[in-house]
Amino acid sequence: MHAFLSLQELELRDVRFDVEIPAGEIDFDGDIKQSSPLRARGVARLLNRSLGEIRVEGDLQVVMDAVCDRCLEAMRFPIEKHFDLVYMPAEEPAAGDEQEAGQAGIEVGYYEGGGLALKEALREVALLALPMRMICGENCKGICAVCGQNRNQRECTCTRQPVDDRWSRLKSFRAEVGPQS
Ligand SMILES: [Zn+2]
Ligand SMILES: [Zn+2]
Repeated sequence: MHAFLSLQELELRDVRFDVEIPAGEIDFDGDIKQSSPLRARGVARLLNRSLGEIRVEGDLQVVMDAVCDRCLEAMRFPIEKHFDLVYMPAEEPAAGDEQEAGQAGIEVGYYEGGGLALKEALREVALLALPMRMICGENCKGICAVCGQNRNQRECTCTRQPVDDRWSRLKSFRAEVGPQS
């Protein structure tokens, strides 16, 4: 298995990879965990010799476990993703490049040293495939802010005070201005 995509080798040939990485070998952030082996196959090639741009393209399959932002229950995300990433040497990240490539639908990353760890790239692919907001379902009612009950499981009887910041700010403003108004 090609764990490391070295520039040296990429200068000679395109590097094909076909890997299966068991859960636990890649560090994901906080509440996000890998719950199946991560499978990925594809090819890495040098895009532009003088600039050292490495393009990593392929398909990834994995099941991730995360936690719902609203109700904090565990939830499962099966990911099947075609990816196409470009990595540039970290030495001279040109301002604006990342944005431009992002607009073209290609993700850009940076690597240091003589090449790129494949695991690092696959970690990014899996994280990018997850939604920005983790919600177990559109109808998730979340957790009651008063008693902490998961309201998907049981409705509580707490009455929720509507909090309107604009209104309370207005009230304190009036108090400062005083009664002459
Ligand atoms: Zn939820
Ligand atoms: Zn409650």
